[in-house]
Amino acid sequence: MAAATAALALGGAAVHLASAQASEPVTDMQSFLTDVTQNVDSYWTTTFADAGLPEPRVNYAWIPAGQTASSQCGELGASAAAYCPADDTIYISEQFATAIYDGALDQQLPGSSQGYGGAVGDFAVAYIVAHEYGHQVQHELGLYDQYGTQVPTSAFELQADCYAGTWAHSAGVNNQLEEGDVQEAIDAALAVGDFDASNPGHHGTPEQRATAWNTGFESGDPAACNQFLSAA
Ligand SMILES: [Zn+2]
Repeated sequence: MAAATAALALGGAAVHLASAQASEPVTDMQSFLTDVTQNVDSYWTTTFADAGLPEPRVNYAWIPAGQTASSQCGELGASAAAYCPADDTIYISEQFATAIYDGALDQQLPGSSQGYGGAVGDFAVAYIVAHEYGHQVQHELGLYDQYGTQVPTSAFELQADCYAGTWAHSAGVNNQLEEGDVQEAIDAALAVGDFDASNPGHHGTPEQRATAWNTGFESGDPAACNQFLSAA
């Protein structure tokens, strides 16, 4: 199954290789990525507990600018945003996250380069983190084993977008959303969508990705995200 050997990238940016060095000083972006990941992890820990499932466990590695790190899914680098099932690790390039945060990639992603959405702001980065964690949830639930050979990549991608939306719903319930956060996530989902439907790596169109995120956000129910696998 492709998912076992290939990193599940966010889509949009090419994935290169890098690895975090524990000896590096922690940067603001590393702290931000860690904070968001822990928030998302807390949400899924509660959600799994409510469903009688064991606590989800995942590793994460933030790739410092100018460095590379190895994953069992291959080399990941300056534009990495991926979950690797083989080593159960979320990899995000600090440089990539900073470029999203600052808007430097605003109009350069597949969707946004064609006029769909845009990527800027803290919640655009949070969307990416929550999407990658969504792949970890799929891994925990055994969905790659169950559906990996039956549905296209885009089905898993849209479900991960939907899972990112259910986390954002919980953040809203907990009064953790700021003005503009929802729009930042929707714009980012539109921006990373692509129209390359003939490509096996197709992640969903901008509108499909934004709709998937909204499905999770409006329902707050991970079960609502099952439709993206069954509809494929
Ligand atoms: Zn993905």
